[in-house]
Amino acid sequence: MSIKKILIANRGEIACRIIQTCRQLGITTVAVYSQADRYARHVAFADEAYYIGPSAPDQSYLNIEQLIAIAKESKVDAVHPGYGFLSERSAFAEAVAEAGLVFIGAPISALQLMGSKSAAKQSMEAAGVPCVPGYHGDNQDAEFLAEQATAIGFPVLIKAVAGGGGKGMKIVSNDSEFIDALNSAKREAIKAFGDDAVILEKYIEHPRHIEVQVFADTQGNVVHLFERDCSTQRRYQKIIEEAPASYLTDDTRVELLNTAVDATKAIDYVGAGTIEFILDEEDNFYFMEMNTRLQVEHRVTEMITRTDLVEWQIRVAEGQPLPKNQMSIQAHGHAIEVRIYAEDPDNKFLPATGVIQALQFTEAENIMIDSAVQQSDEVSIHYDPMIAKIVVWERDRKRCIRKLKEALNASYLFGLKTNMAFLSSIVSTDAFQSNAIYTNSLDKGDLDVEVPLEAAVAAIYVDSLYQQAPADSLWQQGDQWRLNALDRSVTVAFEYQGEQHQQTVVKVGDEYRINGTHYYRIHPKDNCHLFHKQAHVIHKGKRFELLLPDVESQSAAGANSNQLNAPMPGRIIDVKVKIGDAVNVGDSLLVMEAMKMELNLKAEKDTVVKLVEVCADQQVVADQLLVEFEES
Ligand code: ADP
Repeated sequence: MSIKKILIANRGEIACRIIQTCRQLGITTVAVYSQADRYARHVAFADEAYYIGPSAPDQSYLNIEQLIAIAKESKVDAVHPGYGFLSERSAFAEAVAEAGLVFIGAPISALQLMGSKSAAKQSMEAAGVPCVPGYHGDNQDAEFLAEQATAIGFPVLIKAVAGGGGKGMKIVSNDSEFIDALNSAKREAIKAFGDDAVILEKYIEHPRHIEVQVFADTQGNVVHLFERDCSTQRRYQKIIEEAPASYLTDDTRVELLNTAVDATKAIDYVGAGTIEFILDEEDNFYFMEMNTRLQVEHRVTEMITRTDLVEWQIRVAEGQPLPKNQMSIQAHGHAIEVRIYAEDPDNKFLPATGVIQALQFTEAENIMIDSAVQQSDEVSIHYDPMIAKIVVWERDRKRCIRKLKEALNASYLFGLKTNMAFLSSIVSTDAFQSNAIYTNSLDKGDLDVEVPLEAAVAAIYVDSLYQQAPADSLWQQGDQWRLNALDRSVTVAFEYQGEQHQQTVVKVGDEYRINGTHYYRIHPKDNCHLFHKQAHVIHKGKRFELLLPDVESQSAAGANSNQLNAPMPGRIIDVKVKIGDAVNVGDSLLVMEAMKMELNLKAEKDTVVKLVEVCADQQVVADQLLVEFEES
């Protein structure tokens, strides 16, 4: 059969990603959207879009009945579930089949089998695939499990049978902690998955996460598309993925790939799948789980194999054979993906919400951006905080890392917290560059990703004499400045033209604010992105995010002055007052643009406008008279 119209039962970047391929294949797409996603990018991008329900996922993207009704109404041939949401729910695959439609995903039997960590392990052990030593049985008696844990040997990992996304996992380092940890894992599991059954595994101390992309068709062909290294994780969730896993020996790689193909054959699989393995320090690998869907990180595999895995999924769902056999699937070069999350790396990676005020991702040759967001979008609490991915390909890993750093540093997103600076720091570490990252390195704080205050401050030039001597601006003479951060405290002393200056940097929460009445400058040699008072500074390849001093309050006319002068060179955008207007403290007088920022110049006293010397769109020089007020 030939698929001509697809409903995408998902949102965000994966919905956009699927639509992209459908367009190329001439397939019509139907998007669904919740209340919160009315203006989302995937909605505009699809050929048709249907409202599905309120913002909460269980009333929208998880509402099987409603999805099937829309699929019927829009007369699609097939449903693509993307990843997350209903992609691995056998009940959804069943409902799609019952409606006489094609489910572009795994067979129902595989969804059921792999949905249970214990059943999955039992079937893999039966197929001769090595599993992490542990207990995968049905007995949930606490005493019994404690005995099993002792037999396995501590440290032991407790995992929810129905688990996913790292939830419900607990490391136990000795038998006295076991019962408490078990109870806590069970509480978390019942809350997250409605099932408190657990399995036990030997905890691997220096684990690497290596997974194999597999693909199977309905004719019985099974191939692998090489492996991915997903060891860079926080809270058991991947944030950087790459292909290939370049530290693997050829022997281990061949063994791993063959094992993955055997495992796929053993369960009569069809479609795209990922077999996840954990590797210990001796390169012993063990089956962890199989993801019966497309993965977030499928892009790195596409880049090294030059394939389109969504196209493969559609072909296989049509009943066609795989587009390539094993011999013709070749790997070229190296690819790395970083996941951009709206979250706060300095505060336990708590998801961040807010409106995106400005953003830029630079697409270029061999740099791919999968993004679901655009300027003015609100990132809400309802859905996964992953908002974009940057994927980079190069001839080798070293070049790839360099290119990724450039791509990351050239990108910005203002308005809410993201992990972009954190990602940039990770890829700059020796540990990352020398392939010495384990899945627990970030959680244990083993990586030196902290931004030193000294370096952040050194990236800023405090132009204290600017107003008096614009021609002699420090902007041009930056190299004569020496900024010495004395310690991690907050006073910066510096020397300029033989004179000593002091500047106070206050750390408010995790932001650095430069206090005082001076203007600031960012070193022009450093890359920087400015947006209102926020700045991203890229200094010596490292990226810092800073909150700059309150320019607005300094820019307005001084309380005792009868004049408003331009605080710096720039362009007048808007004139808000005219002659004779009475103004009060805080009223906006003019808006000007300078250094890519908008400055709102406000009245600092109650007065009356005597003269307006400028008009909109006019360029002004520093100190130029803008508005004059009546004598008080
Ligand atoms: P989930 O289904 O919740 O994602 P997984 O079983 O896939 O859970 O494991 C997620 C991550 O937890 C792995 O990538 C790895 O970092 C870590 N992990 C899992 N099992 C072990 C183990 N036995 N020892 C050490 N770390 C583990």
